[in-house]
Amino acid sequence: MTENPHSEADCLFCKIIQKKIPSKIVYEDDVALAFEDISPKAPTHLLIIPKTHIARLADIEQKDEATMAHLFSVVRTLAKQHSLLEAGFRTVINSGESAGQTVFHLHIHLLGGRSFQWPPG
Ligand code: AMP
Ligand code: ZN
Repeated sequence: MTENPHSEADCLFCKIIQKKIPSKIVYEDDVALAFEDISPKAPTHLLIIPKTHIARLADIEQKDEATMAHLFSVVRTLAKQHSLLEAGFRTVINSGESAGQTVFHLHIHLLGGRSFQWPPG
C-alpha cells in the first residue's frame, strides 16, 4: 500500500510519539510531547505536539480546548527553560499546505535565540 502522510496510520509525528522514529525529546506528559526540530531555523527550535492525532489547526474542535491550552502552557515552560521569557520568542502554527504545513499532525513551533522579521514570508 502507498503511504499517505495525511492519515493517522502513516503520520510521522504519531510515530515519534510511539517512539517508532527517534527524536530528541525535551518534554513529555500524558497530553503533550516536545522535541527538537530536525532542521532548526533558530538556535532554539522546538516542536510541541498533542499526543492525540489532530491534522491541522483548522481541524480542532471544542473537545480539544483543554489540549490546546495545555500545549501553550508547555510552550511557556520550555521558553522559560531556554531563558526566552524576557529575551523573546516566536510561536508558529502552519495550518494547510499554502501556509507551509508539511507534517499533518498539529504542531507549535517554538523559535528563539535570534531576532525575527515581520511580516513572515
Ligand atoms: P511544518 O512545515 O510547519 O509542517 O513543520 C514541520 C516541521 O517538522 C519542520 O520544521 C521540519 O523540520 C520538522 N520535522 C520533519 N521531520 C522531523 C523529524 N523526524 N524530527 C523532528 N522534526 C522534524
Ligand atoms: Zn499524528
